[in-house]
Amino acid sequence: MAAARFLSIFSCCKIVKGITRGVIVDVQREAIYRVPLDLIDFMERLKTKPIKMVLDEMSGADKETATDYVNYLLENELAFYVDNPQPFKEISTEWDYPSYITNCILDFNEDHLHLYGGVAKSLDLLLCYHMDVRCFGQVSLAGLTRLLLFFEGTTVQNISIKLSAKCFSEVAQLEGWVTHFGRVRLVEVFDAEANHKERKGISFRVDALHTHSCGKIGIHLMTPNIQHYNEALHHNSCLNRKIGIDSNGNIKNCPAMRESYGNIHNGKLEQAIEKPGFKKYWNLNKDRIKGCKDCEFRYVCTDCRAYVEQPQDRLSKPLKCGYDPIEGKWSAWSTNPLKQKAIHYYGMG
Ligand code: SF4
Ligand code: SF4
Repeated sequence: MAAARFLSIFSCCKIVKGITRGVIVDVQREAIYRVPLDLIDFMERLKTKPIKMVLDEMSGADKETATDYVNYLLENELAFYVDNPQPFKEISTEWDYPSYITNCILDFNEDHLHLYGGVAKSLDLLLCYHMDVRCFGQVSLAGLTRLLLFFEGTTVQNISIKLSAKCFSEVAQLEGWVTHFGRVRLVEVFDAEANHKERKGISFRVDALHTHSCGKIGIHLMTPNIQHYNEALHHNSCLNRKIGIDSNGNIKNCPAMRESYGNIHNGKLEQAIEKPGFKKYWNLNKDRIKGCKDCEFRYVCTDCRAYVEQPQDRLSKPLKCGYDPIEGKWSAWSTNPLKQKAIHYYGMG
């Protein structure tokens, strides 16, 4: 007699329910599938019963819909037939990283170059891996070269740089320059002319770079990989193990935040992270954020805490999100009348 067949979801496909919709996040292929809640409920039934038995319990339109669901799961390679689903283990949902600080945002200031050697030593001590360098003022290749030389031999192995063509006159030399620094993953040139060709390691963007650029939320800005997913399950998906240094040298959770925990002129990063309050956002996951806790994207999304809808409310939803989890629809956040007060508060007018 043929064994009863089960339809089993791949272990790399994580199911997240929102209030009106759900998603299947394929953390291996880094893809997000938006699905109705009915499909998720149907998949629950498939965990314990053979597929034929589940379909035989249905009739009419329900059975037709269920058959469509089965085809959808198979066509998108989200599920597979198996005789016994028991041997397939869940992928661990734990998260850890062998660093005290995993990533740093440095708002570069050429006047502080003499201090960045100390910053590099501190980040090395904290075993930091990634650094975003953002240049909002005038910047030169000589200045960037000095900065990068401080990081030679440190744990900071992945560096991205953002600068504006308006404040940087050496765009033509960038291509040759970037090849000398293996740690530089990407240089993004903002305020660029539209006719710039993409080059290896350099990306040209016509939009402006300004201090409020960060924190945007969008379906194309989600991060559906296992590291992000697991981290977001337990921690804040932006600020966990992050450190920021603003252009005045203030040490913060991120440069856009108001609270400062010292300054690189007279303090060290490793001292700042031990100060009371520095880690207060690290374990604040989206299950506690108003609005986000009902959203199916909550473990693949970024949680901006610097710009929120209600600036006085620590658990308020990120300001730059245009998604309504109840309606299941996206709209432009910047023209939403309910967000105008916060937009004005942050001076984004
Ligand atoms: S808290 Fe917001 S502004 Fe700060 S780094 Fe995160 S996304 Fe960007
Ligand atoms: S509601 Fe929250 S979790 Fe959902 S997309 Fe917006 S910011 Fe992300």
